[in-house]
Amino acid sequence: MPFHRPIALLLLGLLLAAGWWRLRPEPGPLQETRLLMGTTVTIEADGLPRDRLSAAAAAAFAEIARIEALMSPHVPGSDVARLSAATREAVVSPETATVIAQGLEVAARSDGAFDLTLGRLKELWGIEAEAPRIPTAAEIAAALEGTGPEALSVTGPLVRKRTPQLAIDLGGIAKGYAVDRALAVLREQGVTSAAVNAGGDIALLGSKQGRPWRIGVQHPRHAGEVLATVVAVDRAVVTSGDYERYFERGGRRYHHLFDPQRGYPADLCQSVTVLAPEAMLADALATALFVLGPERGLALLHGYPGSMP
Ligand code: ADP
Ligand code: MG
Repeated sequence: MPFHRPIALLLLGLLLAAGWWRLRPEPGPLQETRLLMGTTVTIEADGLPRDRLSAAAAAAFAEIARIEALMSPHVPGSDVARLSAATREAVVSPETATVIAQGLEVAARSDGAFDLTLGRLKELWGIEAEAPRIPTAAEIAAALEGTGPEALSVTGPLVRKRTPQLAIDLGGIAKGYAVDRALAVLREQGVTSAAVNAGGDIALLGSKQGRPWRIGVQHPRHAGEVLATVVAVDRAVVTSGDYERYFERGGRRYHHLFDPQRGYPADLCQSVTVLAPEAMLADALATALFVLGPERGLALLHGYPGSMP
């Protein structure tokens, strides 16, 4: 059989191309999504080989799960569950104590618009329950009894409640802490570029392929429409809105961000986005600003270093 040179070369070329394709590292950043803390958590990471990126993302997700087990009211034995069940006080983990201390600081600065003691009010409204309903004025008054920024205090790992029935809710701040921690884990693993997004609580590490991250802020009334684009590097970008968790009755919207004064959903804002060095602070502030409204909210921000004039 005559030696057929062009075909042999073609075959050799194809074999080489196949081998190159198989050995070539997968291009672009890794992106993974999991359900944690009652929301969708997406991690995007870059700057390492694929296997190390996957290991780093797995460790970051595990970190969020660990924090959920400390701070969720629904996990039996969590710090928050024990604290709510306690008559007067409970010893919590140093991390929970730190989150509570940060929450209490924002509570004080916001005149109680941010409030860690609305556990019973949240339960009463059951905004995300199967069949939510509008509570009666008497029910709301009962759920608000004894609540407020002075109802809780923290000394080291010891947290004290003013009344036994006080139920603690870290829902407005714990996710921020969790994404901060997830980002720290990614950094420790050698990741140089990352975004952790837990339902609108976003922490950014470095830049994205040499350019700043671009975060689209969703329009609160037109799904899929981008209201503004935040351009940032090494920042937390946290959004609180009334368009994800709500129900409607009689043409009105009842959502999950409560005005602690009235025990009703706050109605001065539709969406608030806060940029800060850390997501924990940005998370608490976004909730506080949502309740305070644009005027008092911006005044609160001016008390923080680096805020815009
Ligand atoms: P999201 O969960 O949509 O990211 P937030 O970070 O603002 O929004 O947190 C909302 C949660 O904060 C509520 O589900 C509830 O657990 C808690 N919360 C509601 N109102 C307040 C408030 N006035 N102060 C502190 N926490 C609140
Ligand atoms: Mg918040």
